[in-house]
Amino acid sequence: MNQRVSTERIEHWIGGASVASGEAELRFGEVTNPATGEVIRQVALGGAKDVATAVAAARAALPGWRATPPMKRARVMMKYRELLETNREALVQLITQEHGKTLDDARGEVTRGIEVVEFAIGIPHLLKGEIAPQVGTGVDTYSIHQPVGVCAGITPFNFPAMVPLWMFPMAVACGNTFVLKPSEKVPSAALLLVRLAREAGLPDGVLNVVNGDKAAVDALLTHPDVNAVSFVGSTPIAQYIYSTASAHGKRVQALGGAKNHGVVMPDADLDFTVDALIGAAYGSAGERCMAISVAVAVGDVADQLVARLAQAAKALPVGDGTDPVAQMGPLITRVHCDKVKGFVDAGVDEGAKLVVDGRGLKVAQRDDGFFIGPCLFDNVTPDMSIYRNEIFGPVLSVVRVNTLEEAIALINRNPYANGTAVFTTSGGAARRFEDEIEVGMVGVNVPIPVPVSYFSFGGWRNSLFGDQHIYGPESVRFYTRSKVVTRRWSEGRPANATSSLVMPTLGQ
Ligand code: NAD
Repeated sequence: MNQRVSTERIEHWIGGASVASGEAELRFGEVTNPATGEVIRQVALGGAKDVATAVAAARAALPGWRATPPMKRARVMMKYRELLETNREALVQLITQEHGKTLDDARGEVTRGIEVVEFAIGIPHLLKGEIAPQVGTGVDTYSIHQPVGVCAGITPFNFPAMVPLWMFPMAVACGNTFVLKPSEKVPSAALLLVRLAREAGLPDGVLNVVNGDKAAVDALLTHPDVNAVSFVGSTPIAQYIYSTASAHGKRVQALGGAKNHGVVMPDADLDFTVDALIGAAYGSAGERCMAISVAVAVGDVADQLVARLAQAAKALPVGDGTDPVAQMGPLITRVHCDKVKGFVDAGVDEGAKLVVDGRGLKVAQRDDGFFIGPCLFDNVTPDMSIYRNEIFGPVLSVVRVNTLEEAIALINRNPYANGTAVFTTSGGAARRFEDEIEVGMVGVNVPIPVPVSYFSFGGWRNSLFGDQHIYGPESVRFYTRSKVVTRRWSEGRPANATSSLVMPTLGQ
């Protein structure tokens, strides 16, 4: 039961100011603190009209911002970085309040977001093209990278600040303007991010926010003045975004869900591996697209691994994310918490061995919070629903296999392919794994191999629809269009110039 209904309202952010919805029929969503179950804010749910206002603001700001020298855009990013540091704790509090993750986890999220801004500061260098002088007599050829135009970003609930920061700093540094549609479950951190960007010197209209749900998303996907769409969220919606936006002529990158496997070899350092798996499976209550939700135990390591994982999982303190003792917080909504409990029920029914059962967990003074404790299954098989689905909760499944070859084949058959890791002390096994595994991001004794901001982030198969990964060098390609110029400057008319209808061959 929600104990209190707040009247604080979150509106849109368009043209450098907070703007109330202009829709004929006003709609609001409830923002809940998952640790207490309280409704703490209302958020405007925009539609086609609000999107049209925001896209018009972004379109109007485009010529001036596109013409701003990249070094000046970089200086805005430098200032922005400073302001994010100064306001780090305010962001952290908002993330924990609306998402539920622990304060320390939220601090890590903000750090990873700031790192993208740090990469964006290098934009003058990143935008440089190539030149080949004298491709013909008096003729030079060079490439330039120009902004795509108005870009849209649609983000999930699980990283309220980091995922928006994966997108718009790179987009605007490249000279684009941007409309962000944050998750309606966690809108406050994104709004603070855009306010700070304005304070850093980003001109009005360059960065806008339309809050909302499917109606706002659909309006962005079909608006003729939106040129590119970045999406991060679940696989079914990523597929929908990719097909709809590309059918409307837009460049699209749509990152989807995950089912990440951590392979434990018999020679792995078990103390280290158990610590790593516990963090990767239960950190952020399993609500990370890079969470490890399947441990693949190779050979005779399984019994010891399960015993140690069980001991560590049972000892994990769960509570309100603001409680300094808690290492794991609640799930995002009651509906999601019930869904995760339903998966655990199904795993038991299907014959997996539930070694640690977190379904009955109670957190003192948080009776209405959306809590479930860590759950650990052993003897999971690939046909079970707990293996086939992205549960997005604190549920770790152990699958037993005999060889590394079997582990690799299992992972390569899974429809998701976001991240994976191998734990081993054998260089040969690690090398084979990283070569043969068909997954976008690979860790060797690194449980959550999220690339640093100067590499790009993205999965394979159903974990990413589109050609370019997000942030890092690939995002410079995504947020720019290349143009190749072939130019002739010679003094006077070239001596041998004649009118010719033959295909030009400059180098002859
Ligand atoms: P979601 O797909 O439900 O929502 C993501 C965004 O899409 C939100 O802004 C939401 O408002 C919008 N949306 C939801 N339903 C829609 C619809 N029918 N039509 C149009 N728009 C719609 O995802 P979520 O629950 O917010 O986030 C969790 C999911 O995101 C998980 O599957 C997780 O793996 C994934 N994720 C992936 C990555 C990655 O990098 N691959 C990163 C973070 C999260």
